[in-house]
Amino acid sequence: MLFVALNAILGAAMGSFLNVVAERSVSGQRWWGAERSRCNACGKVLSAWELVPIASFLLQKGRCRGCDAFLGWRYLFVELIGAIFGGFSSWRFGVSWAWITALLSGYGLLLSSLTDIYGGYVYDSFVVAMGFLGIAFRVINGLDAAVDGLFGAALGGGVMGAIIVASRGKMGYGDATLSAGLGALLGWKMAALALYFGFLTGGGVALVLLALKKVGRKDPLPFVPFLAMGGVLALIFGPQLIVKLGYFPGWPWG
Ligand SMILES: [Zn+2]
Repeated sequence: MLFVALNAILGAAMGSFLNVVAERSVSGQRWWGAERSRCNACGKVLSAWELVPIASFLLQKGRCRGCDAFLGWRYLFVELIGAIFGGFSSWRFGVSWAWITALLSGYGLLLSSLTDIYGGYVYDSFVVAMGFLGIAFRVINGLDAAVDGLFGAALGGGVMGAIIVASRGKMGYGDATLSAGLGALLGWKMAALALYFGFLTGGGVALVLLALKKVGRKDPLPFVPFLAMGGVLALIFGPQLIVKLGYFPGWPWG
């Protein structure tokens, strides 16, 4: 229980950090090194206390202590997502390769969703890091695991690549690279489930938005957040579902 709570706190800090990485990537700033976080409105350097995730937002009602500007719900929202995901994965998988793979998948998807939402981009460097680490973990754990990751990358990149070609530019190239990186981490069966759940949630939301006339038939829909949702749903339900269907989920899931 302490382990889960600790990981929820680490997850909140991770959400806070990834938000900064995403904002700085989109605005072309460096996110590594000694650059301090500042208020976007008045430029005041935020104190260590103001960087405490969730608690500082709630206590200050999301406002800057310098200029009282509202900093935006996205900080609280992303920190909560990080906390729930960090706590959930540690509860679900314990200390294991599945846990490490799940964390890397979840935070990689969160980061790319944020850069996609803030700036419309998926950054290749983050996706390549996901794919590279995925294959590296798998190589350490045997040939079958490594081949499974390569099939996962090919499946994710291939399916999304084909859809991008067929959609004639309605979907971005970043959807394919992110699916490939995710596939390398998850392996091909979990990657197939992630895509399936992603299309299901994305399609469902698109139908609701179309029905409410919030979007037109020709408007592009950002797929990355749905792919992220699909990936998380696969992490939650995937391994048991694959077993129920009569298959072996493959390393590291079972
Ligand atoms: Zn301020």
